[in-house]
Amino acid sequence: MAKKQFKAESKRLLELMINSIYTHKEIFLRELISNASDAMDKLYYKSMTENLGLTRSSFEVNITTDKEARTLTIIDNGIGMTKDELEKHLGVIAKSGTLDFRGELDQAANSEGENSDAQTTPDDLSVIGQFGVGFYSAFMVADKVSVKTKAYGCDEAFEWTSTGADGYSIDNCELTEAGDFGTIITLHIKENTEDERYDEFLEQYRIKSLISKYSDYIRYPIKMEMNSQKLKEGTGDGDDNPPEYEETKEVQTLNSMIPIWKKTKSELSDEDYNEFYKEKFMDFNPEGVHAIIHDKTEGAATYSALMFIPKKAPFDYYTKEYEKGLQLYSSGVMIMEKCNDLLPDHFSFVKGLVDSEDLSLNISREMLQHDRQLKVMAKSIDRSIRSELKKMLNNERDKYTEFWEAFGTQLKFGVYNGFGQNSDVLKDLLLFYSSSEKKLVTLLEYVERTKESQDAIYFAAGDNIGQIDSLPQVEGLKDKGFEILYLTDNVDEFCLQMLGGYGKVDDEVKPFKSVQSADVDIADESEKEEIKKANEESKELLAAMKDALNAGDNSRVADIKISKRLKSHPVCLTSSGVLSTQMEKVLSQMPTDNNAKADKVLEINRNHAIFDKLQFLYDNDKDKLSTYAEVLYNQALLIEGIPIENPSEFARKMCELMV
Ligand code: ADP
Ligand code: MG
Repeated sequence: MAKKQFKAESKRLLELMINSIYTHKEIFLRELISNASDAMDKLYYKSMTENLGLTRSSFEVNITTDKEARTLTIIDNGIGMTKDELEKHLGVIAKSGTLDFRGELDQAANSEGENSDAQTTPDDLSVIGQFGVGFYSAFMVADKVSVKTKAYGCDEAFEWTSTGADGYSIDNCELTEAGDFGTIITLHIKENTEDERYDEFLEQYRIKSLISKYSDYIRYPIKMEMNSQKLKEGTGDGDDNPPEYEETKEVQTLNSMIPIWKKTKSELSDEDYNEFYKEKFMDFNPEGVHAIIHDKTEGAATYSALMFIPKKAPFDYYTKEYEKGLQLYSSGVMIMEKCNDLLPDHFSFVKGLVDSEDLSLNISREMLQHDRQLKVMAKSIDRSIRSELKKMLNNERDKYTEFWEAFGTQLKFGVYNGFGQNSDVLKDLLLFYSSSEKKLVTLLEYVERTKESQDAIYFAAGDNIGQIDSLPQVEGLKDKGFEILYLTDNVDEFCLQMLGGYGKVDDEVKPFKSVQSADVDIADESEKEEIKKANEESKELLAAMKDALNAGDNSRVADIKISKRLKSHPVCLTSSGVLSTQMEKVLSQMPTDNNAKADKVLEINRNHAIFDKLQFLYDNDKDKLSTYAEVLYNQALLIEGIPIENPSEFARKMCELMV
């Protein structure tokens, strides 16, 4: 029979497809097996509606490899194709049953008035949407493909052959291997080139691993005769009887068939879930996982999701090497190992998979990004993880605290990143250490405890709980009975600043206030009056100290003032702008050159003996006054856990004062 050309534009498209749509050549096998499965589905359906007497167990896929002939063969006993169908389905790239169906779906969705964001079906997707390209992926690894097929109920079998873009031919043939109906696809695997190894697609172990990677949940058995070495019977049982091995062949079923996520929760035990998690995600932490989320959703997006919150962060979790994402399946067939778009950054620790019937198998990574279904799913996944965490927080506090210790930083980054667009949905999941409860508390618990009259949520930042607890600024507030949140993570203060404040639902929002800021005001009216007077009286002394600290090019402090909040300590450091001294410290540790500076205020305790000494020096020894100012300023920095500018100079001055 004369060779036929592929229909209009197909040729160019075929080239394009072979070279660009799929990044991994290995997916050809997934495509061919999915087609076989579709063909068996079709016949099974026909059998049910027309009482043909075929059951699910009548169907299977068989795979064989022949290294010498360089062929890989995939046989199914599905519905097969008539000559017309061969012509129609494999002669024109632009024909795809799967995608016809998808087109109908899209139309249905649009007529429901859901096309408000028509943006999500961009032109590139709709162009590709017209082409069933799955079958042609065979040409990524084969230089010649033969399809022998016999349609169910037909007497004649036909063979379609093609060497790629230059066309195809269809001839009559025999079809013995497959039985009365079905399809045999034979790929003539390409020779290796300098850059590409094709030989691997002739290796049994490679085929086996590709099937368990992509096609494990195909509903029909995928079988292959595997070669293996076995101990010869009667050998190897003593020193004078060395073991001998023989080659045996054994038919193995390579797929496990029923995806665990398609089962119902009641069919599954925790152990089933944990086993699956370990194997699938290679996490061998014996403690298992914090939570299992198994969802089936219908409606705007129909999908099943099985997700896990691990116990521990992987070692590379907080590095940029860590790649977040969920595995993506289309009707039980894996189409992407890590779909980044399905998981928000703040939940990047979640492992799992999503299986949807609304997605096309022939969809590439780039196109998927614009897929509307995917966006709907991502939103719903975000919501479901959130509600699982909330449930844990409310019902299993210890577990949640453990979770928080592993991944809390990520949630706080989630609040801070993206200009706080997720802060509202994350704020109730946050925990901070409380000075009065001596454990991690939520913001809600904090505001529920505070008195009406307290108009702010107080916090203090530092290196660790002990250091913060002994800060001079904390002392005064604690004495007055205020609860203070202790922030020890670099991101904490940035996170709270992004949140701004917190209030119960329908209640007033109380702003967060750092006890290390200059304007914290817990003094009563008479105390305020007193401080004002004291500052007035010591105006000259304070100005002299400020000049000493800011001498030369230095602008160390924005202000020096007498403080009422100090009890036993001589000095403390606060800040008067948006940037706190702790934030300045965090920023200065960043690799990028960040010179943002806090407006520091040195506060002095007038009731401390040092104050009289300062007054004395002001009257008698101005030089020494500047040494004292310097030393006190450095002490204040040290108390805050902030490195001082010149430690050896500081030590020298201390000694000068000591001798
Ligand atoms: P799609 O699967 O998206 O329709 P493909 O390029 O994978 O696109 O396949 C094109 C068409 O060829 C299928 O829709 C089907 O009608 C037919 N086909 C492919 N493989 C088989 C097979 N093993 N048995 C029967 N029909 C097949
Ligand atoms: Mg297909």
